Amino acid sequence: MKIARLETFTFEASTEGSSERLDPSSHTIVVRLTDVDGRTGIGEADAPPDAVRAFLEMRHAHDLSQRLSDLLIGADPLEAPALWDRSYEATLYTGRRGLGIHALSAVDMALYDLAGKQYQVPAYRLLGGARRARLTPYATCYVGSAADRTVTQHTDALLDLLRRAVALGFRAVKAELLFPEMTSDQLIAAIRAAREAVGPNIELIADFGYRFTDWREAAYVLRASEDCRLFFAEATLSHDDLAGHARLADAVAVRIGGAEFAATRWECREWLERGKVDVLQPDINRCGGLTEIRRIAEMAQWYGALVVPHAWKTGITVAACRHFQAATANAPFFEFLSPLLWPSELRRALVTPEPTLAEDGTMALPDAPGLGVALTSGDFPETSHAETAP
Ligand code: MG
Repeated sequence: MKIARLETFTFEASTEGSSERLDPSSHTIVVRLTDVDGRTGIGEADAPPDAVRAFLEMRHAHDLSQRLSDLLIGADPLEAPALWDRSYEATLYTGRRGLGIHALSAVDMALYDLAGKQYQVPAYRLLGGARRARLTPYATCYVGSAADRTVTQHTDALLDLLRRAVALGFRAVKAELLFPEMTSDQLIAAIRAAREAVGPNIELIADFGYRFTDWREAAYVLRASEDCRLFFAEATLSHDDLAGHARLADAVAVRIGGAEFAATRWECREWLERGKVDVLQPDINRCGGLTEIRRIAEMAQWYGALVVPHAWKTGITVAACRHFQAATANAPFFEFLSPLLWPSELRRALVTPEPTLAEDGTMALPDAPGLGVALTSGDFPETSHAETAP
């Protein structure tokens, strides 16, 4: 059941009238693979759509800089990990990290979707099967950019959103503390207020938006808020300050997270060995797809680390996260951008169906073949389409 076609679609939601500039769910590039019998599989990447498309369509230059479609057309989607390795080798000059791996992530996701449909099994079974009975999402709570808000207004809006998430049934939430004007002491007060808002029985994560340039300042905030029992601290120091992450991880009791921009297990290994983080947060649509995040999770087990994937995109990435968590023991949560908590047109309407949250804050294992979601016929502006010629 070989692959016959590779197409890309770019979707952009209207951002007219919005001041929000930090929303990766405002656009996406979808890769669609079609097999010889007409079945399709979809995946997406969180990288500039034009650049991903150019990478996928680039002309064959030589053996270390090949055109990916030449490898994929005629290949068997059931062999996703082998295809990953061949694609990596075939794009060594331009791939290896960053953009090339982001593009490969979308392809890899589409391979699992397509193979799952061919064999009529949910993608997590192709990842080795269920390691848990139920799924647990954490709800990302972001109130938008801080523009024109005072610290108090911003914190109050965030507390309202956290309470809404808990009222919806979520048992794990993340507070996006992305307000650069806050002092460290205001930040500590905001963490304390967040814990009070959600109550004692909810897992609380805090995203610091890379605000610290100094690990000692981050350590001061995390020690002073230790009694608030953060599950982990995200985006504390600069993404490339691995030495700082290691010193911070040594200095505080709370788990330190990182690696949300990382591509491949090799980059994640640096985060474990040099950064000494407790929680890896690679994004399935950037790190190399389902094949690579499973390898990352298996590696993380050797270091006693957890994997909680970053996921701020459309329902395609949400679906990939569900299958990943289903098949992974050391993934206690996955990031869930709920359409009820963040008004993104593409997140809400690009694919269907939307998973249901049970009263206990969990979700059922996916049961439809492949990723289990399909593109809707939503009318999204500035949509473009290209087919990569065989
Ligand atoms: Mg974040």
